Amino acid sequence: MEKIISPRGTKDILPSESSLWQFIEAKAIETFSLAGFEEIRTPIFEHTQLFSRAVGESSDIVNKEMYTFTDRSDRSITLRPEGTAGVARAFIEHSLDRGSRPQKLWYRGPMFRYERPQTGRYRQFYQIGMEAIGLEAPFIDLEVIKLAYNFLQELGIENLTLAINSIGSAASREAYRQQLLAFLSEYQDDVCDDCKRRMQQNPLRVLDCKVPEDQALYKNAPLIQDSFDEESKQIFMQMKTGLEALGISYTIDSSLVRGLDYYSHCVFEFKTDDKGLGQQSTVLAGGRYDNLISELGGVSSPAVGWALGMERIAYLLEAKKFPETKRVYIISDSAIEASKLAHQLRFDAKVLVEYDFEEAKVAKQMNKALKRNASHGIFYLEDERKSGSYLVKDFQAKAEFNLTSYTELLSFFAGDSV
Ligand code: ATP
Ligand code: MG
Repeated sequence: MEKIISPRGTKDILPSESSLWQFIEAKAIETFSLAGFEEIRTPIFEHTQLFSRAVGESSDIVNKEMYTFTDRSDRSITLRPEGTAGVARAFIEHSLDRGSRPQKLWYRGPMFRYERPQTGRYRQFYQIGMEAIGLEAPFIDLEVIKLAYNFLQELGIENLTLAINSIGSAASREAYRQQLLAFLSEYQDDVCDDCKRRMQQNPLRVLDCKVPEDQALYKNAPLIQDSFDEESKQIFMQMKTGLEALGISYTIDSSLVRGLDYYSHCVFEFKTDDKGLGQQSTVLAGGRYDNLISELGGVSSPAVGWALGMERIAYLLEAKKFPETKRVYIISDSAIEASKLAHQLRFDAKVLVEYDFEEAKVAKQMNKALKRNASHGIFYLEDERKSGSYLVKDFQAKAEFNLTSYTELLSFFAGDSV
């Protein structure tokens, strides 16, 4: 029979990798909770219109990357390509604007984009992201960037650079659009097809082009900062001095405009210098989106947020060694007795405990223990049970301990001595 394999661009996260994924999520929960951010879980599919309005008709995502289908009641449904639109929809639908401002939210989960799969780029991929919705204060931009920075540091990811830019207010973007169009008109036949489309729909987006020849052309394009009004200049300045005061180093990348339609003012990306990710070197990206909520019909609620790609983070962490946790394997001639001890020890000492279900010979159980990467074995055979003792073997240190009571066993595994 023909083998069924996973669809192109999807990836199984097998047990050998999932502990790393859990580690990333646990750090997210810890870092964000301590800053008062709360988790929001929105549906994986939404009405297509949400994304065409929120992400924008001119974006690559809406143009060519969405998984859109008609459901059995003829509704156009799309698997979410990103998290912000759904969070914004939920914010409006549940009147979260009536709560404290800003609402500090974070999310995690799968996103779907029809892209050419390569290392760090999949069709189903996972993001962790955060959004602070309801206030314009630039200190919130700094807070979310600092939390991103702390989170990446907590994970132990090194060699990252923060690139920032400002795309200014809507008014200064309009002034810039005219200048950019004048510049681009000379090159309209030389650029890639995507850029031809971008010139028609949203010229700013050409600066985000990944084609090296096009990028070389745009190096001479007018700079957006030169079109800034006073307010835009001031906001950008506050961001730069704030980052310096927080001790976060950054570079300014004037071509950073981000791929979604809803941004204004501050935009930023954390990039790795790890060559293995190739074009996929951006691990985390975000910015301010002051108009999204009102454009979706909500009460004006300025906002800022970011999202990171978990596969890219996992890729950077894979090479690292994680501290080994204790794994205990009970070797016993009675599965029932082993089960009783295992459950008790898991509960009392909060330690990972496994045992053999087949009541195999002792030597075979030893092999099984090693296959499970056990750090310790507890020999719990008839003799030990009669005398109420436990023979513990530390497989790594190759040491043996004869523990004469359950209390001793407990302090052995629960205590700091192991
Ligand atoms: P790129 O320029 O790499 O296509 P993007 O600008 O489309 O990224 P965002 O929409 O800002 O990406 O998403 C935030 C983060 O999510 C990215 O920085 C990246 O780490 C991750 N990401 C985006 N698309 C994918 C994908 N197809 N597969 C894996 N991770 C992705
Ligand atoms: Mg993309």
